[in-house]
Amino acid sequence: TNTVEIRHVTHAYRTPNGPLPVLDDLSLAIPEGAFCAVVGPSGCGKSTLTRLIAGLMKPDRGEVFLHGEAVRGPRSTVGMAFQNPVLLEWRSILDNVILPLEIVAPRMPRRDRVARARELLALVGLEGFEDKRPSELSGGMRQRASLCRAIVHKPEVLILDEPFGALDAFTREDLWQTMHALRRQEPFTTLLITHDLRESLFLADEVVVLSGRPATAQYRMAVPGGTA
Ligand code: ADP
Ligand code: ADP
Repeated sequence: TNTVEIRHVTHAYRTPNGPLPVLDDLSLAIPEGAFCAVVGPSGCGKSTLTRLIAGLMKPDRGEVFLHGEAVRGPRSTVGMAFQNPVLLEWRSILDNVILPLEIVAPRMPRRDRVARARELLALVGLEGFEDKRPSELSGGMRQRASLCRAIVHKPEVLILDEPFGALDAFTREDLWQTMHALRRQEPFTTLLITHDLRESLFLADEVVVLSGRPATAQYRMAVPGGTA
């Protein structure tokens, strides 16, 4: 079964200068457990695609399905991480990671939430930083924490929108290794948005290249050594 299925999606933004077509008859399927990267130049519609999958926006035409069910609004079963992690400064790192559990599993005992968050934080190398505030951590560490927050509630799909884009090259490659470690532990279905082809080849099983204005999926390739 496909966790994510995008069928013939066409979308234009309405702007003061008239409609701005962004996606043109785009179709894309991500099988359960796969790691798919969507690569394309800045402005080609990658973030638009993530908003459609997360149910934050409705396409003009076509449909988006999550586990065969049409997406009609925002879903808590989608985990997201962005280029600039938005962590709450008045909460500790641990309590930032726990946040999605408070929303989707309000009855889960606090000690279970804490155990789950601690386990993930240890996995990404943040053991000992649980009680720090976000501003006390480096950019790379904040991104590690935001990855934990994105998967703490075991979302159906994890959407990563340029999560490593703002990091220096060394930190970025560390984070790639962290991503591998997380996936060995929990093989969640992942969609990575990036303009870095090297990053997509390092992380994904399958790479889809978006191009054209408006954009459509031009080609897809299985990554040698990937699991797709
Ligand atoms: P990418 O993530 O690939 O950089 P986006 O999906 O953010 O691309 O944007 C695609 C195009 O749509 C760009 O030209 C962008 O300026 C435009 N765009 C994005 N969001 C909006 C919006 N809310 N209103 C109008 N135009 C938008
Ligand atoms: P990214 O590609 O990282 O999402 P953008 O600069 O494309 O960043 O967009 C940042 C925000 O600005 C988004 O919320 C997007 O919807 C909005 N946006 C982008 N381009 C436009 C535009 N031409 N008109 C209105 N809003 C826009």
